[in-house]
Amino acid sequence: MSIQIRTDEQIDVVDVTERVASELPDIDRGICTVFVDHTTAAVSINEAEPRLIGDIKRFVEGLSAPDGWKHDALDNNAEAHLRSSLFGRSVAVPIRDGALALGTWQSILLVECDGPRERSLSVTVTPSV
Ligand code: ZN
Repeated sequence: MSIQIRTDEQIDVVDVTERVASELPDIDRGICTVFVDHTTAAVSINEAEPRLIGDIKRFVEGLSAPDGWKHDALDNNAEAHLRSSLFGRSVAVPIRDGALALGTWQSILLVECDGPRERSLSVTVTPSV
């Protein structure tokens, strides 16, 4: 399954929890893996509280580093590659009783580091026996 997400800003954080939950098949238990198939975006699990979302964006912006990255000679976005690498490309969430077993304050977040863009998330569900 694939989910398309449009990001609105160069640095953006989008709560994709409900979109992922809507893709779950009818199974009782398993693992749901959410994978972003891009090199300048990431996925993370954190609280989707609006002030914290703002703080995460500010944190990502603060990860800027001195100029002079060799990749910038290609497409001038080395910083976006480096920022997104710190978060990673996938998360795995248990499925219990047919639903994502996230903690009370946990949400699945797409972290955009080179937007705005159309992003694709792969959602893979592995049933447990
Ligand atoms: Zn690049």
